Amino acid sequence: MKPPLIVANWKMHGGQADCARLARQIARGLRQNSAEIEVVLAPPFTALNAVHRALRGSALKLAAQNCHWESQGAYTGEVSSMMVREQGCRYVIVGHSERRHVFFETDAMIGRKLAPIMAQGMGVILCVGETLDQRQSNQTASVVRRQLQLALKGLAKADIANVEIAYEPVWAIGTGQNATPKQVSQVHGKIRSWLVQRVGAAGKGTRILYGGSVKPENVASLVAVDEINGLLVGGASLKSESFLPIVRAFSQK
Ligand code: PEP
Repeated sequence: MKPPLIVANWKMHGGQADCARLARQIARGLRQNSAEIEVVLAPPFTALNAVHRALRGSALKLAAQNCHWESQGAYTGEVSSMMVREQGCRYVIVGHSERRHVFFETDAMIGRKLAPIMAQGMGVILCVGETLDQRQSNQTASVVRRQLQLALKGLAKADIANVEIAYEPVWAIGTGQNATPKQVSQVHGKIRSWLVQRVGAAGKGTRILYGGSVKPENVASLVAVDEINGLLVGGASLKSESFLPIVRAFSQK
């Protein structure tokens, strides 16, 4: 298994100077961290370059929050995997619930992004997760399985090494209501067994992250869940005072 992965998703927050400042604060705060842990920052597109420069000399990595599946073309307002790789990105988040539910990205659209991202030498952080209605009507497992199946449809088995999965129940994102350790453990267990069915033993090494209202106050209970291999953090990653304790708590795992 690779080291635990903690991803900071800054969504549409911060200009270049704010993002570079926050990146420097986080990098400084983690300098003493001896434990092996991978920390990735995902600022808005317009701050990628500034954050890339701010992270020089640190072990922190850069991610884009999204990209288009084509490398170029008549896609007004879109940015390609080649363009974000040029900005210094090592990962791209795809299928975030805000992309699915606010911008109506389908499983098929999300699935088309994986190969171009990997062709640029970057890793994919694939988000999956059910809505509250789907959970309440006992559809969590089938929804997550369908999202995984469609996104990973054309994936060559060996390419699973370049994919990380983030389980993010939609009802837990930005709501302050995180999933319980038991709920996370059940879904992560199902994701793991489905991955192993799909790609064989290589699926045992895929990191499965949890995301949804992770905060310094609840991180300890999540760290204790064996099936969690990292975190995707939104709101609490916007301040070093709340993000650093989350990374440190995970470093004890
Ligand atoms: C996210 O943006 O992926 C997320 C999990 O947000 P939050 O931590 O604010 O719920």
